[in-house]
Amino acid sequence: MSAATGNDPRPTAPAQRVNLLGLSRPQMERFFLDLGEKKFRAEQVLKWIHHAGVIDIEQMTNLGKALREKLAQVAEVRPPEIVSQQDSADGTRKWAIRVEGGGLVETVLIPTAGRATLCVSSQVGCSLDCSFCSTGKQGFQRDLSAAEIIGQVWLAIDSYDAFKSGKGRVVTNVVMMGMGEPLLNFDNVVAAMELMMEDLAYGISKRRVTLSTSGVVPALDKLAEVSEVSLAVSLHAPNDALRDQLVPINRRYPIARLLQSCRNYMAAQSDRNRVVTVEYTLIAGVNDSVPLARELAELLRDLPCKINLIPFNTFDQSDYRRPSGNSVSRFWQVLVDAGYIVTVRSTRGDDIDAACGQLVGQVVDRTRRSERHRSRVDSNVIQVG
Ligand code: SAH
Ligand code: SF4
Repeated sequence: MSAATGNDPRPTAPAQRVNLLGLSRPQMERFFLDLGEKKFRAEQVLKWIHHAGVIDIEQMTNLGKALREKLAQVAEVRPPEIVSQQDSADGTRKWAIRVEGGGLVETVLIPTAGRATLCVSSQVGCSLDCSFCSTGKQGFQRDLSAAEIIGQVWLAIDSYDAFKSGKGRVVTNVVMMGMGEPLLNFDNVVAAMELMMEDLAYGISKRRVTLSTSGVVPALDKLAEVSEVSLAVSLHAPNDALRDQLVPINRRYPIARLLQSCRNYMAAQSDRNRVVTVEYTLIAGVNDSVPLARELAELLRDLPCKINLIPFNTFDQSDYRRPSGNSVSRFWQVLVDAGYIVTVRSTRGDDIDAACGQLVGQVVDRTRRSERHRSRVDSNVIQVG
């Protein structure tokens, strides 16, 4: 915890108040101890915020008036600000969120049979510049705080008014697959994921919280020491020559090192039956050929994994094309024949630009894009894998 949590005797200006929304359980306990209060206060406040959805300290009635007043001097509970909320015809909901300092990030809730997956952002923009990703094209602006990350879960539940009626049904799974590279914002992402899994907060099981990385190897090794969340790795190519072009961080941490790091991660898990999800964005004429599928099948032989194929989602600044349904099927078949479990990610929320890699501040350019998408919907070209 930083000094801002309370040892400083000077009066705290409102701007310096600690945002309690982002404190993990140990951090919240530390905060109350530093304030000269009992540790169990952390439990009460966590429940108010994450179980009851209460952000007004005054309404946290079991704290007692004196403590509420003391708390309001040094702390607040401030969710991020929603700029827009859009609902897709298929039930997907997307929020554009303005974070302090002015940047925009997006969060998407994707309901499917029996589950609802929230796709959460970790940074404003991204520094890694993968050639097929619209977030990468924006460049990097800044890391999100832990409050801004867990705040996306809070907002999603609040937007369905579901804190009282049963938050468990609104968000059953979280994937760190929105904007940004989560492992480059390590501490804040880990604190937020702890809250996702914490019983006093959202209580989602570790299998249902997934971190997706493009391959920041040292941070992945560090994650293995502190977390047991599910792991997804954005591979996109079966050899270094091709991956160097698509995922520039591969030049620093090539495939062999990345896969070794994935194996280490799995070996560190208490539950040995878990597998890595290998994500492979299929781009027409770039990485979708049958020989490359065979090379991929060979490469992954020693890794306990399942493979998720993601047909490329187009965006304005990219010349890449989405492969045909036939070439997706051919690629899929090679991997299935080699014995892998392979899923093809369906495109959800296409009418609101909510698919992977389309998450970028399009809010300003909404009209033109919705026209384009309306014509796509009308001509029934949405591909569902
Ligand atoms: N930075 C992390 C997590 C965010 S990206 C990562 O790269 O893993 C989430 C997933 O969307 C990644 O697998 C990424 O490769 C994929 N993706 C990005 N842009 C895409 C696009 N235009 N079409 C399809 N998938 C895309
Ligand atoms: Fe960053 Fe992931 Fe996009 Fe690559 S794919 S630029 S790592 S957000």
